[in-house]
Amino acid sequence: MKIAVLTSGGDSAGMNAVVRAVVKVGILKGCEAWVVREGYEGLVRGNTEALSEQAIDDEPINLPDNASTDGSNFNLIHNLRFGDGDLLKDGTGDHPGTRSLKGRYIVRVGFDDVRGWFAEGGTLIGTARSKTFRTAEGRLQAAYNMIKEGIDALVVCGGDGSLTGADVFRAEWPKLIESLQSEGRITAEKAKLHAHLRIVGLVGSIDNDMSMTDLTIGAPTALHRICEAIDNINSTASSHSRAFVLEVMGRHCGWLALLAGVSGGADFIFIPERPPTSESWEDEMCDCIHRHREVGKRKTIVIVSEGAIDRNLNPIKADHVKDVLTERLGLDTRVTTLGHTQRGGRPCAYDRVLPTLQGMEAVEALLEATPTSPSYMIGIRENKITRVPLMEAVEMTRAVSSAIEAKDFEKAMSFRDPEFKE
Ligand code: ATP
Repeated sequence: MKIAVLTSGGDSAGMNAVVRAVVKVGILKGCEAWVVREGYEGLVRGNTEALSEQAIDDEPINLPDNASTDGSNFNLIHNLRFGDGDLLKDGTGDHPGTRSLKGRYIVRVGFDDVRGWFAEGGTLIGTARSKTFRTAEGRLQAAYNMIKEGIDALVVCGGDGSLTGADVFRAEWPKLIESLQSEGRITAEKAKLHAHLRIVGLVGSIDNDMSMTDLTIGAPTALHRICEAIDNINSTASSHSRAFVLEVMGRHCGWLALLAGVSGGADFIFIPERPPTSESWEDEMCDCIHRHREVGKRKTIVIVSEGAIDRNLNPIKADHVKDVLTERLGLDTRVTTLGHTQRGGRPCAYDRVLPTLQGMEAVEALLEATPTSPSYMIGIRENKITRVPLMEAVEMTRAVSSAIEAKDFEKAMSFRDPEFKE
């Protein structure tokens, strides 16, 4: 089997560990491992240029004893420059010891190509939001490019959008094959060989906003980053007896804000899932902080999730919270928006372990897939790696967002936590 892995949507720590695990386990199981650069955009663009002769290196390097030696494990393209030749640059100007990937988005890789990747932040194979893949023509071209390289299985690591894309692609696959054959772009033999697409999704998202899994890849690292930032702010806030309002990421999901608040000792936290009434939140917050100050606290930390709203769906913004603290409590208040520092940097240990276990499970799921089995999303529930039907998880995630938009907060929470009672 030829397995390709891609990362899509917003980047998150741990995506490289996913690629590493899929490549290594795939090879150990006797498959060929491929990566697709720049997310779905790379599938659509495919390979317009052949690898130069010198890029082919048939020396097997550091293969484990139990790896098969039929050629599928050979480290074909060691030292390719994954960082260059991206969507904006033309990939020219080789560095010593590296080889250009110009014009090649679907690339076969070997064991050594992914060595040490678990410790790298972001995604080394690139990610993108691809408009073209949202169109039927884009997906037709993507299917063609995959078949051209002989890829028959795909691992997608991304957020709910990327996993929706994966599901759409798989559902449409028979139609795409039919079109490619009727247009004479692939032979009947190839059409038969690629009649079914095996696809599996892994959730890479710092927001931890996916239903049917307890944790998404990248969320623990983002939480660490926020926690470190609060620690830094705590010391200066305490020195000057100041208040700080921190805006953190998370979109519709308050997980990052809530856990950062708990681990950093925040005084007040705003999350989308528990919106306060627009009439009461200012009083509530000021009473709480006033109490804390009265018992001698020299600093104040308020965390505002980027998706925080009140019960009338008015956004609660950090600047407004700051004004309330300044005007009503007379506190010297500053706003800190952590922004992209939450996304980047080295993955924490758990964002190496989780993608490794889930990457292994993804390869197993692909090997066991049948034409009638659903596409799976690999998750984790109560500390066990799980497989759940991909579309069910995506639909439930969408249902949470819709319930929040429709002000049905109890329903939204019941999707996340079936035992929730307000
Ligand atoms: P993040 O959580 O960081 O936003 P995401 O995976 O949800 O990540 P999106 O921008 O929603 O990010 O989706 C990533 C890509 O997935 C899109 O650019 C598009 O190429 C593909 N995609 C999303 N939805 C669909 C769809 N309905 N049909 C086809 N492709 C889609």
